[in-house]
Amino acid sequence: MTQALPLNIATSSLYLMTDNKPNKYNPLEDEKTWQKFWENNKIYLFDQKSKKEIYSIDTPPPTVSGKMHLGHAFSYAQEDFIARYQRMQQKNVFYPFGTDDNGLPTERLVEKLKKVKSKKMERKDFIKLCNETLDEIRPDFVQGWKNIGMSCDFNIFYSTINDHCRRISQRSFIELYKEGREYRKESPTIWCTTCQTAIAQVELEDKEQQSSFNDIIFKVKGKDDLLIATTRPEMLGSCVAIFVHPEDPRYKEFTGKKAKVPLFNHEVPILTDKRADPEKGTGAVMCCTFGDQTDIEWYKAHNLPLVMSINEAGFMTEKAGKYVGLKINEARKQIIEDLKTKKLLVKEKEITHPVNVHERCGTNIQILNTKQWFINYLDLKKHFIEAGKQMRWYPKHMRVRYDNWIKGLQWDWCISRQRYFGIPFPVWYCEKCDEPILAELSQLPVDPLTDKPKKPCKCGSKKFKPEQDVLDTWATSSLTPQLATELIKDKNLRKKLYPMNLRPQAHDIITFWLFNTVVKSQLHNNINPWHDIMIAGHALDPHGKKMSKSKGNVIEPQVMITKYGADALRFWAAGSKLGDDLPFMEKDLVTGKKMIVKLWNAAQFCLMHLNDFNPEKFDKKKLTLIDQWLLSKLNRMIIEATDSFEEYEYARTRAKTEQFFWHIFCDNYLELVKDRIYNPDKRGKAQRQAAQYCLYTGILTVIKLMAPIMPHITEAVYQEHFAKKEKYKSIHISEWPKSNIKEIKEKQEAVGDLVVQIVSEVRKTKSSNSLSLKTGVKKLTIICSKDEQKGIKLAMDDLKATTSSLDIIFKEGKKLDIKVEF
Ligand SMILES: [Zn+2]
Ligand SMILES: [Zn+2]
Repeated sequence: MTQALPLNIATSSLYLMTDNKPNKYNPLEDEKTWQKFWENNKIYLFDQKSKKEIYSIDTPPPTVSGKMHLGHAFSYAQEDFIARYQRMQQKNVFYPFGTDDNGLPTERLVEKLKKVKSKKMERKDFIKLCNETLDEIRPDFVQGWKNIGMSCDFNIFYSTINDHCRRISQRSFIELYKEGREYRKESPTIWCTTCQTAIAQVELEDKEQQSSFNDIIFKVKGKDDLLIATTRPEMLGSCVAIFVHPEDPRYKEFTGKKAKVPLFNHEVPILTDKRADPEKGTGAVMCCTFGDQTDIEWYKAHNLPLVMSINEAGFMTEKAGKYVGLKINEARKQIIEDLKTKKLLVKEKEITHPVNVHERCGTNIQILNTKQWFINYLDLKKHFIEAGKQMRWYPKHMRVRYDNWIKGLQWDWCISRQRYFGIPFPVWYCEKCDEPILAELSQLPVDPLTDKPKKPCKCGSKKFKPEQDVLDTWATSSLTPQLATELIKDKNLRKKLYPMNLRPQAHDIITFWLFNTVVKSQLHNNINPWHDIMIAGHALDPHGKKMSKSKGNVIEPQVMITKYGADALRFWAAGSKLGDDLPFMEKDLVTGKKMIVKLWNAAQFCLMHLNDFNPEKFDKKKLTLIDQWLLSKLNRMIIEATDSFEEYEYARTRAKTEQFFWHIFCDNYLELVKDRIYNPDKRGKAQRQAAQYCLYTGILTVIKLMAPIMPHITEAVYQEHFAKKEKYKSIHISEWPKSNIKEIKEKQEAVGDLVVQIVSEVRKTKSSNSLSLKTGVKKLTIICSKDEQKGIKLAMDDLKATTSSLDIIFKEGKKLDIKVEF
């Protein structure tokens, strides 16, 4: 057998004849078998009794949305590489799994699946329906994560809506309230009229929108007309003042006067404030309570009246006069029409500008005055930025996004939502004196709608109103380190789990999940929640666009797994540098599958020749030059692969291992030693054993380095031969290869490289003469330096056999060259 290793990917079953027995590996069937094997043998169990060093991971709990998408497969595979690597480093890996079940996404999903409207149902009926629906769909949903080969301990499980999480989330609320970090207040709030709830600054997204800048005439008694430029003429009814810059010469004589609001005819003062930008529009702006953030500042600074002309559902209120009952956009159109008719509109300029929308539904947000709960933390901005510096960010540059977010924070964290399916506030209000009454810790989890406070109010009253709102979902998911670690009952062990070693997540939620988790950890414990942060990029569609249902470019991982196997998908996910976005190309999965096939076939070839070999009894003195060349490169690879994993650069590990495996091991080493393996009578037993040692070490090292990335195929190979030898139940709990610096030999490597170069030149010559690679060479002349000759002679027999040369002679020369005579 001297032909190149077969590489057949046309069929899903791969055959290679060994001892006349077909040995096959079929990802579709075998991956499932190995997943069952791991589950049955509890390979990923977090061992609570172990003395090993702990490595804890704050797994992102995916939102139960019915189906896993390719982006999940991409980023979860990347964190799983790390979990598996750390486990092979003999650490006791704490790798829980949770699902994020509360809040709007679940409400939306249940409304869609069950064809109901939450606002039209009894609250308790809707919550019951949500819980039932989640129980129905959760097992299939979690299975998606098992199918990509996630190595979580799925027994350490939480759902962000279950009793455990409600208790911890409510406890967090009570603790922060007692520390004076929370307040409830009627104040301007960011509001979504579609979801009909308050939302937080972090839930805003910029969207470019078509709009128009309108120059509108305001009449001023005894003066010229005042021109106001606005993009929101529908807010005219809530105009409470006009602002100009104090130094703007155009408006000097207007200040202190009153202007008449067109169409509405009420008079408003003309005031000065440095925040009025003379460069923008006409330099004179109206303040409507509330059009934007500046309006709020003006409203507070100048003690202006509050006039709300938009209601919570996005319709005009009676403050909008004859426009009452219209939708915001309808009102805008109508008001522009009326302004035109009355000749009060001077100019209408089309513009595109960024508008704040709710990231979940795309609705333009409004600012409404409502009563909400807040966490006040704007005084801690510097502290949070400092805390960010204390953690190690991979890749480093991602910290900038965290810093910028904090610097731009303008609102306290609004944590109340006017929704149904969420964790209730553990709060009632006294009917008599309106004092908030908090639940006692022993009462948690509590539902104020059905439960009662344990004691009467300070005023003596025993009548309470329950808080109707629910907590923002991020108020709970910002506690994932606590949610996960508190599943462990042993308090001493818990201390070793928190702060956790790693938070893996994608970059789009640095401002949400990551920042909020730091906030909670700092406020509660005055420490960071983790030591390391690993930020994944996004999987994009083949054109580099974000995948989304509305664009119809979503790819389901299960479809790809069925076609190519989970290992191929994971191989693809390991192809991008940490933090980089990666467009999905199906051809990359073809490459992944080729890797599966090649690993399997190369392993079958090696194993076929290892039955009579015992690595423990092997004497390394038998190693020849070519063996030393291989082992030197192998040890370099171990160092690079290990260092890369330590830096969360799994892509570099993959690249280095692949390079060694294909080009050093398969293309060259296996070819160079075939003669020794097949002809021990001619070459001697020692030479065969030396090759066997390298086959054993080479293939074992490669499958171990690839095990975190391609867990199934590597397990299949490991179980065929190595499990018995190493006495580990699974490759995934076996030891990560250790490098041996003594085996890194510069000289031998250089000579080996020359030998490889000579072999490749001979092959090239044969091909260019249309000869088979097995064609005999009568005389091979090698031109090289004296020193090089000395080295190459150490590999003479391998070289002769591999090139099928009868005779090899040397000639002195400076530059390596060869002459082939057939
Ligand atoms: Zn919304
Ligand atoms: Zn009271």
